[in-house]
This record gives sequence, C-alpha cells and structure tokens, in this order.
Amino acid sequence: MSAALQGTVFLNDHFSRDLPELSIPWKAEPTPDPRLLVLNSRLAADLGLDLEFLRSDNGLGLLTGTAVPEGATPVAQGYAGHQFGSYSPRLGDGRALLMGELRGPDGTVHDLHLKGSGRTPFARGGDGLAAVGPMLREYLVSEAMHALGIPTTRSLAVVATGATIHRDTPQPGAVLARVAASHLRVGSFQYARAMGDEDLLRRLADHAIARLHPDAAEAEHPYRALFDAVVSAQARLVAQWMLVGFVHGVMNTDNMTISGETIDYGPCAFMDGFDPAALYSSIDAEGRYAYRNQPVIAEWNLARLAESLLPLLHDDEDQAVEVAMGSLRTFRDQYSAAWSSGMREKLGLAATDPADDAATPVVDGVIALLQQHGVDYTSFFRRLGAAARGDSAPARALFTDPTDYDAWANTWLALGPDADRIDRINPAYIPRNHLVEEALAAATAGDMDPFLQLLYAVTDPYRERPGLERYAAGAPEDFGPYRTFCGT
Ligand code: AMP
Ligand code: MG
Repeated sequence: MSAALQGTVFLNDHFSRDLPELSIPWKAEPTPDPRLLVLNSRLAADLGLDLEFLRSDNGLGLLTGTAVPEGATPVAQGYAGHQFGSYSPRLGDGRALLMGELRGPDGTVHDLHLKGSGRTPFARGGDGLAAVGPMLREYLVSEAMHALGIPTTRSLAVVATGATIHRDTPQPGAVLARVAASHLRVGSFQYARAMGDEDLLRRLADHAIARLHPDAAEAEHPYRALFDAVVSAQARLVAQWMLVGFVHGVMNTDNMTISGETIDYGPCAFMDGFDPAALYSSIDAEGRYAYRNQPVIAEWNLARLAESLLPLLHDDEDQAVEVAMGSLRTFRDQYSAAWSSGMREKLGLAATDPADDAATPVVDGVIALLQQHGVDYTSFFRRLGAAARGDSAPARALFTDPTDYDAWANTWLALGPDADRIDRINPAYIPRNHLVEEALAAATAGDMDPFLQLLYAVTDPYRERPGLERYAAGAPEDFGPYRTFCGT
C-alpha cells in the first residue's frame, strides 16, 4: 500500500490507552482469499473513508484486520455479562477486535470493530470465526434498523475470507466490519467492578461520559447523570423495538450498550403475526427474551449496571443503592411515555395528544385487536394509511372476520388520524424472516442478488416502490415456526 493510501485511514486508540485493563492488543487471523461481499458506500462516505481504498487489497486488509494502519492498536475488549440470568465473569471479544476509533468529517468519533476475525484470548471454546450467513444477517438487519430511525451499530462491510468454517455443515467464513458510537456494554462495567479497582471503574465511567453522554460531565453528580442517561437511552430504545415489532433475542448484559445503540444481531427477528410471546432463538427454552419481556429485561440489565456503578454513586453503600433505585424507578415511566407517544404516531395521532383521554382507549384497543386476531403487525399499521384516507378494504382484508376491526376503526377514525403521518412512520418493508432466510441461503451458495434486492427494499422502508410487492407481503402460509440460532 502506498503511504498516501495508508494515510487515508487514521485510527485512534483512546479506548486502549484509557482502559488498558479492558484491552488485549491482538491480531486478526490471516484470510486465505478475501472477497468483498457488500460494502456500505453511504456509510463509508459519512465516515470519510475512500471507497477505492476500501475495495483495494489493503482496504480488504483493513476490513478483515489483516492490514493494520500505522499507529493503530487493535484490541480484544474485555467484558463480563449475565447470560440468560447467569453471571459469566469473563466473556470479552472472543472473535472480535476493536480496530480503533475513526473521526468522521463531521467530527464525531466511531469505533471500527470486526467480528469473525479469529480467536482471541477471550475465545474460550470458540473457533473465533463467523459464517457468511450470520454476518450478512447482521449487516441487513442493522442497516434496516438504522433506516427505521432506531439507534444501532452500523455495518460497513462483509468480506468473505475464503476459509471454510465448521458449523452443523461446512460454511463459508466471513468478517463483518461494523461501526458504533462505542462498543461499551453493561458487561464492561460489570467486568471493571469485579476487578475491585475503583480507579479503573472511575476511568471507565469518565471514558463513557466523554464519548457518549458528555452532558453528564456538567451535572452536579456526573456518575449519577451517566446512569440516568443510560436508563433514558435504553427506555427509548426498547420502546422503539416494541413499536416496530423487533425481538432482539439475546438481551444478555454483554449485549446491551451504554450508548443506547442496538448491538449483536444474533437470533433476532421482526414478528410477522402479532404475538406477545414471539421468540425466535433456538436456545432460549424458557422464553426469557420473548417480545413482551424486553422492557422488563432491559430494566433488569440496568439494575446490573447500577450495581456495578454503586461505588461511584455515593460513598455510603446504602445511600448509593437509594440513588440507583431512584433512577431505575423512572425507567417504567420513561418507557411507557416513549411507547405511548410512538403508538399514537403509528396511528396517525399527535404524539402528545391533548385529547389524551380519547386516544387512550384507541391505543389500548389496537393492542387487544392485534393480539386477538394475530394479524400481520407491519402490514396492519401500513394499511391504516389507506383506511385514514377512506379505503378500509386493505386493512379489513387482514381479518378473517373484520367485525372487531370495524368497531375499533370507528373510534379511531373519529379522532381524525393523519394519513401522511401514518405513511411516514409505519414501514412498508422490514427484513421479513422468510425473505432473510431466502437471501442468506442464496448468498451462502454464492448468489448475492436476493440479498442486495432485499437490502434495497429495507434500507428505504417507507417509500413503496413498484416491483417490490413481495417484500411488503406477509410470510407465506407454509413458512414457520421460525427459529434462529445464536453464536454462529
Ligand atoms: P454473543 O453471541 O454476542 O452473546 O456472544 C457471547 C460471547 O461468546 C462473547 O464473548 C463472544 O465473543 C463469544 N463468542 C461467540 N461466538 C464465538 C466464536 N465462534 N468464537 C469465539 N468466541 C465466540
Ligand atoms: Mg455479544
């Protein structure tokens, strides 16, 4: 690589310099025959990255970690976590690397992070690798979430490594390059707290404040303000998941960020028919992370964050617990407020409706209606646009017997819903499970076209386009029950 090209990517190492205890400098495994499967040119431009460079051999080296820009220090990040309620003191990046931090042309700082780049000292029994299918799934779903306005890690590229990896069947290997405001997790704080080193905990909190919640630095009690900020960010985030019908599937504390970005797309899915018990993970036998449990689990995870932060909240432990509880108690109200105003918007009603009393039964009624009839969640809201314009046929067609719909729609229409608002907020295209499976199977067999077509639909989700009808349609009768697999 020429010196000029090398100079196009400058990666900072703030994380590893601020927090060496959480950083193990490490190298990616060589890739036998790297091939770019998908590159996010719009994101690259936002980050000030040169597309020609990213497509070059050295660019692929950066995207797989095998070519490290001068001055950069890739590290595996240490973190702990509660997995399905049980504490694991040492998880960490078993197959991932933080390459460093990128400063975009607008001055914002982002982590550049790789997944599937080989074993690290945190790998335990894992092979450190990732398959093309799951990495493309994360690319697709994270970019769909971003297009839906939901905070998330972003996907920059997926590179097939040319290696074959061993799962149930042999699979082509891949590395995902992703970008986030930060990869700090609740588990990062659990790890620091477990080390019993208060100075480390303080440096971690200072780092999080500086990178993610700078307003907290101005507060009377910056660490309490940090916790408040994470509680608020997660309340808003989980409300957005619920409103769009997203099931994360593996809300362990190591998969919950301090930034409030959605992270780690494993056994996630968007529900088809409305079902509060919706869950797609093959390993979650008890349904801990089912759709309806997500707000309560988020609150539970935040309690684990609070426990980790206690020494910073007050010198006296009892009082620290009081402070933490006071903040945590606001989660439910913040979540409910975000969900209620979001649901009003989905129904074409003003987010903060002065005629609240009239809207409340309509909001409650829509959930009862959806639950009773199990209709396709995304199609239902999308079709309300036509109903608000006077054509109720598309929405009615979702019900075998539309009597309940008609009764509900009468009270809803009486509130004068705004059809344009409905179209702006309810997507026509989401990564439907049957389409995702079809796209990933084709990509694994070497045909990227179905993936790219689906990506085109879901990254512009509100603008209905001729020719994309099958991307807006519900799952075919013969599809399901749907299961996805974690840790692949
Ligand atoms: P997650 O799937 O994000 O909940 O990952 C849980 C933990 O398992 C993290 O510490 C990962 O780094 C680790 N892990 C998952 N898959 C692998 C793998 N194939 N090799 C090594 N570590 C892995
Ligand atoms: Mg994870």
